[in-house]
Amino acid sequence: MSSFPADDPKLLADEPLVWDLLPAEQQPHWRDHKAYARTRRSLLRAAPLVHHSEVTELRTSLAAVASGKARLLHAGDCAESFSEQTPEHLAGKLSALDSLGDFLSARCGQDVVRVGRIAGQFAKPRSTPTEHHAGVELPSFRGHMVNSEEPSPEARRHDPRRMLLAYEAAARVFDHFRRLRQQRAAAGSHRASLGPWASHEALIVDYEGPLVRTCPDGAEYLASTHLPWIGERTRQLELAHVEMLATVQNPVACKIGPTARPEDVVGLCERLDPERSPGRLTLILRFGRAHVAQAMPEIVDAVRNAGHPVVWMTDPMHGNTILTSGGIKTRHLSAIAEEATEFLRILERRGLHAGGVHLETAATDVTECLGANIRDEKYLASRYQTLCDPRLNAEQAHELIETLFRP
Ligand code: PEP
Ligand code: MN
Repeated sequence: MSSFPADDPKLLADEPLVWDLLPAEQQPHWRDHKAYARTRRSLLRAAPLVHHSEVTELRTSLAAVASGKARLLHAGDCAESFSEQTPEHLAGKLSALDSLGDFLSARCGQDVVRVGRIAGQFAKPRSTPTEHHAGVELPSFRGHMVNSEEPSPEARRHDPRRMLLAYEAAARVFDHFRRLRQQRAAAGSHRASLGPWASHEALIVDYEGPLVRTCPDGAEYLASTHLPWIGERTRQLELAHVEMLATVQNPVACKIGPTARPEDVVGLCERLDPERSPGRLTLILRFGRAHVAQAMPEIVDAVRNAGHPVVWMTDPMHGNTILTSGGIKTRHLSAIAEEATEFLRILERRGLHAGGVHLETAATDVTECLGANIRDEKYLASRYQTLCDPRLNAEQAHELIETLFRP
């Protein structure tokens, strides 16, 4: 596991931030790179990517989801690519998100807030620090913010200058989003509050920390995205990620996997949502179909009894990843549907609102998961393009929504 200890402050440019002094899992090794200090200063001086009023607006929309008046669709790439940043790519991704959002809205009869895994989803936690390519051991690919997927030692070196490329790529997406929401608002459409909004895993502390900015009322917000989330591997209470997201005013989310104990989750809720404010905290449950029925009820009951009005969201993908006999990472639509169906059933039995669905989806016709129009493993190779985990294509995603929600 790559992690840095409470670091030597001499390596940090300018004043260390609170969370710089806390340990963090899954961080790049680049603080001795000659461009590190310069890059950090650039990020500290960079314009905020999102405005604090946008963060407040999304928080209000998510409060409506928490109270049962709307739903949330959170979807997009597992890992965004620097080479897919053209206006055409962006338009394709936004239209895929909107059309799935419209479909979900028609199926469940409620407004759907649309949040993309976009404009910053450039960093990946990995289960092993190295991987093998053609018999050679290399550092694992950690997302374009950190290194390249090319299998060579040079390309896999962690390079802090990539944080600036990620920032610039994200800035172009946010410009586009803003224009779109302004057009929708000018047309008098309430669609403006439904999005599109952006979200990514706030993983790289060296990127997120310098982008924490101050609101006019003196509170702090994370200006790198609207909705940051904490992943399953970095949700330890005493470490940097939870501290960082506890500090900011954005709506925040946290992934919860099968090893989480109810008391761990209640502790997280207390840290991230001490005021019990609807819209502040979304819990993204990703147990796997084998564990959901056993693990989910006691967590839901514990959170409810502690009085946290969270948005309950299912991520039925990350607990259902398998390897084919040929070694290809994939997921079965049937396993995904089974976990999500159980999630809906558990909430319904308790009279709680199933706030949302979190999916890994592609805007193009990829062949990465099995089911619907991909009937056999032999088709996976034809358009398997993901940089990390396998995504649903549009037909698979629509079929899933159709199975889950019946008007
Ligand atoms: C992801 O969402 O791509 C991811 C890594 O998820 P998790 O933290 O749930 O494993
Ligand atoms: Mn993933």
